[in-house]
Amino acid sequence: MTDVTTLTAKEAADAVAAGDLDATELFEAYRAKAAADELNAFTWVADGAPEANGAAQLPLGGVPLAVKDLFCTEGVPSQSGSKILEGYLPPYSASVVDRLTAAGAPLLAKTNQDEFAMGSSNENSAYGPVLNPWDRTRVPGGSSGGSAAAVASGAAPWALGTDTGGSIRQPAALTGIVGLKPTYGSVSRYGMIAFASSLDQAGPLTRDVTDAALLYGQMTGRDPMDSTSLQHPEAIVMPTAERLDGLRLGVPEAITGEGIEPGVFARFEETLKLAQELGATVQRVALPHAEYGLSAYYVIAPAEASSNLARFDGVRYGLRAEASDLLSMYTKTRHDGFGDEVKRRIMLGTYALSSGYYDAYYGKAQRVRTKIAEDYKNAFEMVDLVVTPTAPTVAFALGAKTADPLEMYLNDLFTVPISLAGIPAISIPAGLSDNLPVGFQMAGPAFSENRILGAAYALERAIGFDATAGRV
Ligand code: GLN
Repeated sequence: MTDVTTLTAKEAADAVAAGDLDATELFEAYRAKAAADELNAFTWVADGAPEANGAAQLPLGGVPLAVKDLFCTEGVPSQSGSKILEGYLPPYSASVVDRLTAAGAPLLAKTNQDEFAMGSSNENSAYGPVLNPWDRTRVPGGSSGGSAAAVASGAAPWALGTDTGGSIRQPAALTGIVGLKPTYGSVSRYGMIAFASSLDQAGPLTRDVTDAALLYGQMTGRDPMDSTSLQHPEAIVMPTAERLDGLRLGVPEAITGEGIEPGVFARFEETLKLAQELGATVQRVALPHAEYGLSAYYVIAPAEASSNLARFDGVRYGLRAEASDLLSMYTKTRHDGFGDEVKRRIMLGTYALSSGYYDAYYGKAQRVRTKIAEDYKNAFEMVDLVVTPTAPTVAFALGAKTADPLEMYLNDLFTVPISLAGIPAISIPAGLSDNLPVGFQMAGPAFSENRILGAAYALERAIGFDATAGRV
């Protein structure tokens, strides 16, 4: 009997639908792998397969799903990587989790992440760092590092992550898998423990583009519980075209190779050549305000976080520190419960929102955000997709950037402007540099997921990335 965990999610779902594979057997095979977790990728693993429930008739065929810790899952620890939510058992599940369970993807495990999704390496988790399966001395990226490591290592067939400034795409790039950050609003945020609400978006981390299309197709949709959610104007289709004839790719003028590791830039240029061989054209596009993206993001995201995290006071959820009076209980709980990066962001955000500074920081950052969105709008008059490396580096060593937050923030250089614009983007593996995966990022206009997935599918075939070295 072949190892069923070597199948992609789509292959496994098809095998279950055809009656060639038992969904319970599939679940148990993954459960055993997840339980043996050597990468610290999981914060919770199911203790048994769900009751047989006619999975073969459902669109996701009973293929189990790993879910980032910050999605509320009823009766299952949902801690957002934070000590302040240690042992928190939500009374309900996030809409997207409910949707996927109903579509035939039962909950396999919860995955480790940076605390409240703040980070690019998973080293900000209160539950310890996640190791990169390609090289265990290196980070898997963040903040959805547990989801990425789980999928890359073969301990989960697919996973849910969230992306606020790059947290699906960057870990996907650093672990050699596919990560899709959907259009803001196209997936419900209801039941996601919030970081920065105007940016947070859930999306799939998968072994290939087909699996990303399959999972995203079941995630998207308007949810009355999230007033910012929207119905996708198109049905998500499974990509099949192997050519890119007539597709116009735009490379931002700022991408010159400077500030990008040479091996990463080389894979980027090779991928552009492949795209041209498949019939695409490549031209330069101007995104004059993208260079201010990181600065604007690191005002807007902490500002929203400082407000969202005000609810953690020791009264309603998780940790409560003992103290003699109410105010000291609040402050001691927050002092003990939040990690350093979260505290840094709360302070930054509170400062940026304080009266007298609001216009100078938050107001200005919002105006920059509008300019960046306009830049992309203008670019999409000339090209169909804007392409860049996903991150300027391959996976870095554990501890390499923890002493300098700015160094860490710089890893989000190419993902953050896209998040500010609210548009969708994918990262696909584009080869190796120093035996570590490199990501290729493609962004399109709002609701162009079909276009992005289609192009990614054709390129994936041409690239022929071999993921086996990342498997455990
Ligand atoms: N690394 C970025 C940050 O720390 C993005 C995180 C994310 O997308 N959740 O904010």
